[in-house]
Order: sequence, then C-alpha cells, then structure tokens
Amino acid sequence: MKLETLLNKKDFTKEELIFLLGLEGEDMDKLLKKALEVKLKEVGNTVYLRGLIEYSNRCTKNCLYCGVRIGNDKVERYTVSDEDVFECVDLAMKLGYGSIAIQSGERSDKAFTDKITYLLHEIKKRSDGKIGVTLSCGEQTEEVYKEWFEAGAHRYLLRIETSNKELYYKIHPNDDKHSFEKRLDAIYSLKNQGYQTGTGVMIGLPTQTIEDLANDLLFFKKLDVAMVGMGPFIPHDDTPLSIYRDSIISEQDRFDLTLKMVACLRLMMPRINMVAATANQTIDPKGREKIVQAGANIIMPNLTPTRFRENYLIYPNKACVGDKPDECKNCLDLRLAAVKHKIGYNEWGDSKAFFIKD
Ligand code: SF4
Repeated sequence: MKLETLLNKKDFTKEELIFLLGLEGEDMDKLLKKALEVKLKEVGNTVYLRGLIEYSNRCTKNCLYCGVRIGNDKVERYTVSDEDVFECVDLAMKLGYGSIAIQSGERSDKAFTDKITYLLHEIKKRSDGKIGVTLSCGEQTEEVYKEWFEAGAHRYLLRIETSNKELYYKIHPNDDKHSFEKRLDAIYSLKNQGYQTGTGVMIGLPTQTIEDLANDLLFFKKLDVAMVGMGPFIPHDDTPLSIYRDSIISEQDRFDLTLKMVACLRLMMPRINMVAATANQTIDPKGREKIVQAGANIIMPNLTPTRFRENYLIYPNKACVGDKPDECKNCLDLRLAAVKHKIGYNEWGDSKAFFIKD
C-alpha cells in the first residue's frame, strides 16, 4: 500500500487501518504529522479542559481490569460530599476551566441517580450556567439519562473498552450485569437523548489483535460518536487481569499503538473531540503532549480533593495524583505551549463533529 495516498484518505478499509497501525519509524512519524496537520486545519491548536471530579468509587460492577471493582476489598470506599463537589466547581471557575467531568463508579439506585440530578441543578445554578458538564457515570436507563440531560449535563462518556464481544467477556464477567449488548444499547440511548456522546477503548489488552483495534476505529466511525477517549491498558495488581502482566505487549508498544490509534481516528473523524488520557502520562512523562500532537484536543486535569485520589485508581501509578489544581494548571500551560498548543480557557469546547456533519 502506498502510504502517501493513504494519508490523504478519510475512509479506510480494515486492511488499510491494519497497515497504518503497523507503521514504525519514519513512516509512523509521517502518520502522526499528517494527523496533526488535519487536526490544526479542522479544530485548531486549542486544547479544552474538563476538570475531573472522581465523585465516588462505590461501584456495583466487577470489571476485571479495574482497581475500583466491587471485588477489590483493598480500596477504601468514598463519595465526595456535596460541599466538596461545589468547591471543585468554584475552583474550576476560578481556574478558568470551561467544563467539568463527573466520573463515578456505576450505581443505578435511586438515591444515587437523584443525587446526581440534584448536583447538576446546583452546579448549573452556582455557575450561572457557565460551566459545561460531562458525565461518566456508567449504564443507566433512558429515563435517567433524560433526567440528567434536562438537569444540565450535555456530554456523556461511556467507554465500550473493546468492540470485540468475545474480548469484552475476557475483560468483564460474562453475566447480565456486564452485558455487551446493554453497553451498546446505553450508548445508543445517550445519542437518542441528545448528548454529545463519547466512547473509547483500551489498547494492548490481553489477546487483543491489531485487527481488533482496526475494528474499534471502524466502530467509532459507524457509531458517529462526538468524542473518543482511548488509552493504553495498564494492569492493576489487585485485579484478575494482572496475571497477564508479563504476556501482554510492552508499555512502549502500547503507547505507540495509542499514538497511531489517535492519529488514524483524527484522519477518519477530523472534527471529533479526543481525550489525551492521563494513562499515557503514566507510561511516558510527555505522554499527554505526544498524544495531543497526534490528534487529541481534550485534557482532564484532576480536581478531586487529593485525600480521595489514591482510592480512585482504575489503573495503577496514575500520573499527577498528588498535584494541586493550580500547580496542574501552570504545568499544563507550559507543557502545551512547548508543543505549540494553547488552552481554551472559559470555553466549553464542544465537539465540532456533533454540530457539523460531513
Ligand atoms: S470500570 Fe467502572 S463500572 Fe467497571 S468496575 Fe471500574 S468503576 Fe466500576
């Protein structure tokens, strides 16, 4: 296949994607360079922030890769108080973050869903409607998604983790609580409710092939999602998947594949929002900047009160866990300026792909 011809395409076959994901050395650099060029042309060099609030690590699920899973009894469970959430919102406003993201372990009991509704109303009131809100609170009924949308959330991230059903059940228990079909239905339901809907996958999972990853990219495109968050799989010691620690591809290979996945997706879906996940920084000290240069345009600096953060480790050795929010802001300013990007302060930074269809 001729690389130069491929790099000017937007619609790829699975075989073409497998070829691009296999690039190395100078050819890989050409792919990353092209993705940056497309990003700058279509969405510019602004990176938008989502101040992350890791609201609660109480979760009813048992995903086999996750440090917060219900079966991990080494974690101290917490839920951030309303006052602490409001302080995070005030801090986001003070720091000029245009949006927050509320992430939580998955619960669908009424006390939890009502609490999120209440918080959304209060956050909107408190910020005079100025703060954009992304939710990442797992699978819920269509009614709950509707209620949260009406209360002020307008973006929702629900990662599929892999679009290969067989692999999905290798990384989740195969039961009704972790149904692949239900996950898919929830993503469609979010789209129906009018959310800017995001999904994503892990890269470098045990037994995952390049073909699986090419299919993941085609899955995002077919679903026409507005946002994507992808990151390398990092095994957590207190989870069942840690037994694969020595049999999966190397950290560097997982990181390089993440770069290529992000770059390919930017060529395929030029106007979507793509997160430079913190997991990349766990592998490479300049991981997030490198992912931004490969096509990502969203960063999620952590606003969670520091005393809770050690107990929200979906994967281990998370970068910036001890950083204070103002240190984090200054650090991001400098890091992004070094790669000729700027932060979109006080802007929601919605997905252009959601509003402008090709
Ligand atoms: S990945 Fe999410 S739903 Fe699964 S166990 Fe972890 S927090 Fe719960």
